[in-house]
Amino acid sequence: MPVPRGDLTRSAVLAALGTSGPLSRTDIARTLGVSPATVTQIVKDLLARGLVAEVEHRPSRGGRPAVLLGLVGSAGRALGAKVAADHVAVVDVRLDGQVRQSWEWPFDAMAADAPDRLVDLLRPLVEPAGDEAASDDDAAAPILGIGVGVPGAVDDQEAGAVDAPTLGWRRLALGARLRAALPAPVLVENDVNALAVAERLYGRGREHRNFLVVTIGRGVGAGLVVDGSVYRGAGGGAGEFGHFPVQPGGPRCSCGNTGCLEASVGQEALLRAAHEAGLDAPDATIFAAAGELFGRGVAGLINVMDPEIVIVLGEGTRAWEHWRPGFEPSLRAHLMPSRRGVPVVVESWDDTSWALGAAALVLATPYDASGATGGQGELVRARLGGALAGDLS
Ligand SMILES: [Zn+2]
Repeated sequence: MPVPRGDLTRSAVLAALGTSGPLSRTDIARTLGVSPATVTQIVKDLLARGLVAEVEHRPSRGGRPAVLLGLVGSAGRALGAKVAADHVAVVDVRLDGQVRQSWEWPFDAMAADAPDRLVDLLRPLVEPAGDEAASDDDAAAPILGIGVGVPGAVDDQEAGAVDAPTLGWRRLALGARLRAALPAPVLVENDVNALAVAERLYGRGREHRNFLVVTIGRGVGAGLVVDGSVYRGAGGGAGEFGHFPVQPGGPRCSCGNTGCLEASVGQEALLRAAHEAGLDAPDATIFAAAGELFGRGVAGLINVMDPEIVIVLGEGTRAWEHWRPGFEPSLRAHLMPSRRGVPVVVESWDDTSWALGAAALVLATPYDASGATGGQGELVRARLGGALAGDLS
């Protein structure tokens, strides 16, 4: 369904504030290439709806100080859930990305009733008991939707059919199952793509339209952001960096092939290498070999994609000082000369990062003028606008 023109411009104003704010009305008009009168009208509406507030004043040459506008963080919330083979991590996040609360529960993804169990975990968070709902001001903000990140391929965010071998899920209609059982819009996405959305919204991606997110940890993955949007491929499976073939005759991979990057540098591979060497944990030699392969793979991605920046994330980054000695020389040795200036940054990682990425799927939706989130995205936008419309009277 096409997005109405007025809604599109309103989304664009919210997007500008959400990704580059605070901004003055003049900044917004210049950024979007629309008339100051149009911006004034839209901002008036957004102020009245409580979505935007005047946050500070900036001195301007000669005249009155310019008023800067920003998003109201408490105007909406999202739940983000990261599903792993043995646990589910969930966060409750404000519109401005601030985490209000987080939870983690054991979870058996292989169990036949896994989707029902996920519904049981999420339902109390969407429908809190009366006294709990009144416990703080932010809780009164509407839940705009639920984002779910999974380690696998998802056909599209709206339908949410998941292929995830590590969870034992094959064409599982997770999006439809959750939507039918929970009173909120649901968006399902590959977990690394969700991290890339979060980087675009809150992280270094705010300043870049073309960048890569690469993850190391239990698996190896990549999120490819092209012209400001996550590139999903023909079937939602783009970015399977873990299955980049790097080692002729290498170990057997979970995908069935041999020599995939993940089969050599994923957490399981490192532990197996340690075990075979009679060690309790991977040593410097094991990390050096893994870092060398990982560096070669990342160089290949950079040569192909020509990104402005590469962001390395995931649980594995906690041991980055062990990865670096193998990684750095290998990366530099395999980059084309024209790519050698591309920065590769390793960001700090915490337990809520995956779930925050999933929540970003929902929180980025009001800014999604391209319609990638489909009908569920429209429901999210309607909640953001509609639930607050009553305040206008
Ligand atoms: Zn593989």
